[in-house]
Amino acid sequence: MEVYYNPVVCRLNQERRRRKTGLYIHYPFCQTKCSYCHFVSSGYEPESHRRWLSAAQDEIRRAAGLFSEHLLIDTVYFGGGTPSLLGPDEVGSLLASVRQNFEAELREVTLEVNPVADPERIKGWLQAGVSRLSFGVQSFDPAVLEVLGRFYLPEKVARLLEEARRVGTDNISLDLMAGVPGESARTMEINLKNLLELKPNHVSVYLLEELETVPFRTIWEKAPVSEEVAARAYEDYRLRLEAAGWLQYEIANFSQPGYQCRHNLKYWRYQPFLGIGPSASSHLANFRWTNPVSMDAWLTAIASGKQSFSEFMELKPEEELRECLAFGLRLREGVLLSELKLHFPGLDFSAFETRSKQLAADGLLQVDNGRVRIRTEKFLISNSIIGELLY
Ligand code: SF4
Repeated sequence: MEVYYNPVVCRLNQERRRRKTGLYIHYPFCQTKCSYCHFVSSGYEPESHRRWLSAAQDEIRRAAGLFSEHLLIDTVYFGGGTPSLLGPDEVGSLLASVRQNFEAELREVTLEVNPVADPERIKGWLQAGVSRLSFGVQSFDPAVLEVLGRFYLPEKVARLLEEARRVGTDNISLDLMAGVPGESARTMEINLKNLLELKPNHVSVYLLEELETVPFRTIWEKAPVSEEVAARAYEDYRLRLEAAGWLQYEIANFSQPGYQCRHNLKYWRYQPFLGIGPSASSHLANFRWTNPVSMDAWLTAIASGKQSFSEFMELKPEEELRECLAFGLRLREGVLLSELKLHFPGLDFSAFETRSKQLAADGLLQVDNGRVRIRTEKFLISNSIIGELLY
């Protein structure tokens, strides 16, 4: 699909204010492809890596040419794929491009790191400008790691965290998975014991999902985990992480005070973000778009200088409001109706208010002082609550 950014620029011109914006950089390679993974990534090889790096620099310059006078970049998130395959000098050169081409006051720069990474690289990444490290641990239970096809010892993760702290950051997140075949009552104990020892400031807990299209499906079919068991595991994490001092601020995310992920909060708070790299999405003003998904299509688009997307949408105010509510209600803080009414002055909120009162009476929502939020103990059924509220 070929579309032009011009309507986005026109809309930004009308609004005449600089927006604090998050920049997401998608690195699409991994050492090997995990069988359960549905992210856009393929096997690493040096020539593709080099081409990606050069095209990502071009895309940063091109995006800045269009939008820089309207944006202030305050967070950067290197996701993937396995962006820890980028060397410190490469991370540094990408961040230098961001600073040179955009107005930037970087308050948070996250790098996703695979636990097999070399701890020696951490110092270089921090010196290059990274301030937050997110480790995709998935589990500390060897039985679960084996099912997932991942092989590293908890001591390796401990060594990475120790090095990160030694060279200057304690802004550290660990990702875990729940509802994986091979999980047992011991898994929770092993994971919790390691979390308590390692004390990361931030923990994410994801349920395995979207298995229809990935090879892991055959493993899953031999030993499927029922929704009920996965739900129990999630609820167990929720309660025990909170009891241990990690406050749940979003359905899948827990942090110690002051360590919420600023970049990811932008998605849930419906704030602007710009995506660089294949499959990366952007949201500016009332427009949303996604870059070409395949590496080749993305490279061709960058080389041609044409703007090409896999999806491009101009949202009507009603659609924006729906999205804003659907994302905002994932947060413990929920949404503030008075703010929404100011932001969407022409819209009628009466149906939403009636339904939210009904769901509050049913014990699913809390409504106080104009703030609407899903009860944390009901987060697991948040999709159906949001569905009832909005549709
Ligand atoms: S390392 Fe992460 S992004 Fe790469 S294939 Fe595995 S799960 Fe997917």
